[in-house]
Amino acid sequence: MATTTKSTLVVGAGIIGLTCAWRLARHGFEVTVFDPAPGRGATWAAAGMIAPHAEVAPGERENFELQRGALTAWQLLAGDLERLVGARIDIHVTGTLLTAWDASDRRLLEQYLKVANDYGVSSAVVRRESHPEVFVALSDRITSGLLLEGDGWLDPDQAVRVLDEGLRSLGVRIVRESVHEIEGDASGVVVHHDSGATRAHAGIVATGAFGLPRGATPSGEHAVRPVRGMTVRVEGIDRSQSPTLRCLVRGRPFYVVSRPGGYCVLGASSEERTGTLVEVGELQRLLRDALDVVPALESASLVETRVGLRPASHDLAPFLEEWTAMRWAWSSGHYRHGVTLAPLWAERALDFVRGVSA
Ligand SMILES: Cc1cc2nc3c(=O)[nH]c(=O)nc-3n(C[C@H](O)[C@H](O)[C@H](O)COP(=O)(O)OP(=O)(O)OC[C@H]3O[C@@H](n4cnc5c(N)ncnc54)[C@H](O)[C@@H]3O)c2cc1C
Repeated sequence: MATTTKSTLVVGAGIIGLTCAWRLARHGFEVTVFDPAPGRGATWAAAGMIAPHAEVAPGERENFELQRGALTAWQLLAGDLERLVGARIDIHVTGTLLTAWDASDRRLLEQYLKVANDYGVSSAVVRRESHPEVFVALSDRITSGLLLEGDGWLDPDQAVRVLDEGLRSLGVRIVRESVHEIEGDASGVVVHHDSGATRAHAGIVATGAFGLPRGATPSGEHAVRPVRGMTVRVEGIDRSQSPTLRCLVRGRPFYVVSRPGGYCVLGASSEERTGTLVEVGELQRLLRDALDVVPALESASLVETRVGLRPASHDLAPFLEEWTAMRWAWSSGHYRHGVTLAPLWAERALDFVRGVSA
């Protein structure tokens, strides 16, 4: 690729790299993306919830405010892609039902409610007698919950597929290779990848919780650690007409994202470590929680387990760190909200590249 002021490199094709590449290409940049396994990092394990209201947590107000525009941003991105390639990313706005399993879980739910009220999140108490449709397939023991409007979800596999199609239709090159080293100065950027070197005008590193390529110059202000998570995919119950279910069970958060047709994503474990093998105990805990809360899953078929590494920063907030002298920026730290935040974060990457290309 010639090093015109419009040429840009993206290292990493998870949901963050792919949405950055899309935004850049839509603005007329000539984009090349590098990833040996596009869409197979944390994005592959993600349930795809876009649930700012259910995700409210103490000390994460700023993050909550960021997420508020996420559903609209995804709807706009999906509409743009559909107009261009005729393929859809379906954005399901279902709301969330937040429930608790035992007395101590109910206390945790009360704490959630305090924070949610403080952040201005509106919620309504719903009971099984008045809203049976919301409690479909749940244990009789769960008789009430909080209904949070305005949360939703998408299927990350579908999003990756449609983004890939859209990028190719805009002439973006997706190179299935690892980047080993990056360079950059006022004259442009270079990546050294498996089969050689590629130059451009500016670049974005979006490698999630994976290590940075050699030559990267992090300021020290930001760092990323992997927080491992597993989701279990089953087939057999369809709650897609009901709100996404989230339940606190024995102090652990559990959820079911139910897609039309009976495919369900059950999640998720969360551990401060790396490694992608599924541990028997981890699987057993998740399935025990699942069967307690949703006994109808007893006869569901196990499809697969997926493990991913959430990229967590010091303060659990996402960042775009600019290495302006090198003409690179590092976009990471999206932790448990990368799918949610991707289209919003793509705007920041675009602003950076426009800035260094001006
Ligand atoms: C179990 C689980 C459930 C989750 N559920 C949700 C959810 O419901 N909603 C939500 O918003 N978020 C969710 N998340 C979080 C979300 O998945 C992440 O925040 C998001 O996927 C991060 O995207 P990313 O593109 O930064 O990283 P990744 O998806 O990990 O992508 C990084 C990519 O970089 C590539 N790469 C790494 N090093 C190099 C290199 N040197 N050269 C080239 N390529 C490289 C990798 O191959 C990978 O494809 C979940 C995460 C997990 C683990």
